[in-house]
Amino acid sequence: MSSLFENTLKQINEAAEIMNLDKDIITILSHPKRILQVSLPVRMDTGEIKVFEGFRVQHNDLAGPFKGGIRYHQQVDMEEVKALAAWMTMKCAVVGIPLGGGKGGIIVNPKELSKRELEQLTRRYIDRVQALIGPNKDVPAPDVNTNAQIMAWMVDEYMKLGNLNKKGVVTGKPLECGGSEGRASATSQGGVYVLDEIVAEKGIKPEETKVVIQGFGNAGSHMARLLSEKGYKICGVSDSRGGIYCEEGIDSINMIACKRDKGSVSECAEAGSKCERCTNEELIEKKCDILVLAALENQVHADNADNIKADIIIELANGPVTPEADRILNNKGVMIIPDILANAGGVTVSYFELVQNEMQYYWTEEKVQRRLKPIMVKAWQRVYEIQKKHKCTLRQAAFISAMTRLKTIMETRGFE
Ligand code: GLU
Repeated sequence: MSSLFENTLKQINEAAEIMNLDKDIITILSHPKRILQVSLPVRMDTGEIKVFEGFRVQHNDLAGPFKGGIRYHQQVDMEEVKALAAWMTMKCAVVGIPLGGGKGGIIVNPKELSKRELEQLTRRYIDRVQALIGPNKDVPAPDVNTNAQIMAWMVDEYMKLGNLNKKGVVTGKPLECGGSEGRASATSQGGVYVLDEIVAEKGIKPEETKVVIQGFGNAGSHMARLLSEKGYKICGVSDSRGGIYCEEGIDSINMIACKRDKGSVSECAEAGSKCERCTNEELIEKKCDILVLAALENQVHADNADNIKADIIIELANGPVTPEADRILNNKGVMIIPDILANAGGVTVSYFELVQNEMQYYWTEEKVQRRLKPIMVKAWQRVYEIQKKHKCTLRQAAFISAMTRLKTIMETRGFE
């Protein structure tokens, strides 16, 4: 199987061919600008020292400071982080915000660490990467298994290292530590703004639309809430421990509360209700109209793509559909709203957070939404126009949209 970064290169090359992009630009975008690998010793609660491995990949900063999350996961590896960093470059360019692409990761299962160990690990990571990050250089954020609390430790550690009043070093912070209104739900909200446009054009009625959501972390749980508020019927949800499918629909608010109490949505089947437990793999093959992929990469692949029943897939996760599955689904006529567009609301509100930190002036939730919506709608319209013009997929169109912007910068500025 090809690596995640090779998949990203395939996507870049496919789109580049359609738009007839200059070879030199493809060459530049195929290589991250800088890569850092760090060792992170932590004194565990047992008294022993354990060394974790971490990465930060800075893919491209032509449009602005490197930007992208840090994930804590046992499956993190350098190829994955390189892919995720390149997607961030594309994502920021799709929505046209002045930021580049970066990504970080630590090989760890954070669920096995105590809170103290997690804090030590986080602070150690910042010690190791501090020379490379900063509001004008590289701005990390939450990703898989990282959250506002972890961002608070990061900003605190960075300031302790002498970087006073540099709150914009990370985004996705708690409100009381310089976070932005609307950031927690931004990834899902951005996806909803795009979906609203599609639904309006296709004449889809939310009340008659069944939704399955794979992944119930930050993005998945906010998506469940936002879509139920709009009247969609949420029929299935899952997390890393398993899923649940209820033909008659799920109450999202109860589900969010139940997951908080019991640790997994798979524990939340109500007695007597028409709900069945299922694995993550089974869940995505269930009957639904819209499938939201909000977990990890490579979830839909050559072996299960044919079994997908949804008409629309929204990629809130990064890279959840492999290139082979992409082809199969496109041949079946499934509409895929690609990650670099569908989940770009998160980094867009991160950009707002950075701006607010620099101004030291904070916006209301309403103001955040008033600014997020037109960015998402314009990004969608631009991608949709390109798709119609080139008769290509939405993913190819999103890459063309991004690379057109990057090409203009490179042609104007050069890339040395
Ligand atoms: N981790 C998120 C993403 O993949 C957010 C990145 C950010 O806000 O910088 O888009």
